[in-house]
Amino acid sequence: MAEQKEHRDGFISLVLGGVVDPILQVFLSEVQVEEIPGGVKIICPNEIIGNIIHQKYSGRIQSAAKKMFGENAEVLFGTRKNPDKVSSSLLFPETVDVLPSSPVCPNYTFENWVVGKSNQMASVAALAVAEAPGSAYNPLFLYGGSGLGKTHLLCAIGNYMKKHKKGFPFCYVTAEEFTTEFIQALQEKRLPQFRKKFRSYRALLIDDIQFFQSKEATQEAFFHLFNSMINNNHQVVISSDCSPSELKDFTSRLVSRFSSGLVADIQPPNYETRIAILKIKMQELKVTLPNFCLGYLAENFPENVRELEGALHRVIVYHSLHQEEELTSDEVLEKILKDLKRPPKNLPSADQIIHSVAQYFSLPAESLLSRKRTRDILFARQVAIYLIRKTLGFSLPEIGHIFQKDHTTILHSLSSMEKKLSTDGQVKSLIAHLEHQILSHRNL
Ligand code: ADP
Ligand code: MG
Repeated sequence: MAEQKEHRDGFISLVLGGVVDPILQVFLSEVQVEEIPGGVKIICPNEIIGNIIHQKYSGRIQSAAKKMFGENAEVLFGTRKNPDKVSSSLLFPETVDVLPSSPVCPNYTFENWVVGKSNQMASVAALAVAEAPGSAYNPLFLYGGSGLGKTHLLCAIGNYMKKHKKGFPFCYVTAEEFTTEFIQALQEKRLPQFRKKFRSYRALLIDDIQFFQSKEATQEAFFHLFNSMINNNHQVVISSDCSPSELKDFTSRLVSRFSSGLVADIQPPNYETRIAILKIKMQELKVTLPNFCLGYLAENFPENVRELEGALHRVIVYHSLHQEEELTSDEVLEKILKDLKRPPKNLPSADQIIHSVAQYFSLPAESLLSRKRTRDILFARQVAIYLIRKTLGFSLPEIGHIFQKDHTTILHSLSSMEKKLSTDGQVKSLIAHLEHQILSHRNL
């Protein structure tokens, strides 16, 4: 038993590879790992968790298995109920490329990509490039924040070519892998082979180009490869976490080449698109959740689709393990997701809130912090206290400290505000207005 646990922990730390990924950790803590001849069997508590692990982490599991059991390691999946029945949907799909390259993730395709206002141009351009590589937009430069689907789109192009252009040699590679391979070739004096290999591809999909920052020699090697590809009408697709002009420590000739084709950005999806993404992800996992859950998730994870999806997985896993506990209210979701929810970034300071409130009531900010007790000052002060508590979550003593009052006075002020809010529509809309103003000016 102890030996099995050790084995499992060893394998799991290989899969994690030093990455802190709370979702992956939760999933893997539910998993048993069994050695089989020539490989490993992953036994999941149920098929739903098996599907999620398989879809999201197959790449990592496969390379951990290779490290532990050799190049030809086999990975099988089973569930706790049926450990020996290996569902075919849970087997790793084949990922064979024409030339050896890092395989594209088979789960990222155009079929399961949601087009919305936030990514329209990038989606259309990606599809055009996949359909007519080298002749639509060359290079295509896609940029956007983390977790907004850049890798998904790049892989979708690769998967499309694989399916519709059989034998068309393309390469998907991350800028980090490219760098490692370049340095290795340099050290082993194999640069000609390195060049030959990359130049033979008809399309190069390179992910996270910002990784080249300050790596002059790699940038130089890439510059020559890039030119040779474009001159031969071979397609180049680049992804980056910022626009070409925002790339730091890049040679200017590379930056200007990046902008010479089409540059398309990917923005965070709006609410409707977030709901559509959640629906497509549920469909893939063959699960359904009540509508209010989708609303809650879309509402609370607005900025990063990876986090939105992580939260969805958490709810699905929780539900599949605790069938008896119904998903009936926001409170249940709050409990399941409490450690995943991040406070919104760039929150205003307490001082900024006091200033905004004072400005709204045409009062000097100092009067809210003074001992004055005229009606309008008392009310404005209550509003500021309430908003500091609500938007920043400060404790009563913390707020007391700002206003030089003890925490019972603050508590009194808060409950009197709550009362007004529940009975007076005007106060309610005033607070909503101020809250919106404060949060939307948070960068100022
Ligand atoms: P990035 O490379 O930009 O950091 P990823 O491509 O890894 O982001 O996307 C993170 C997750 O979000 C992936 O699971 C991806 O499938 C999903 N995703 C992002 N945008 C969309 C979308 N428009 N439609 C479907 N899935 C999406
Ligand atoms: Mg990515």
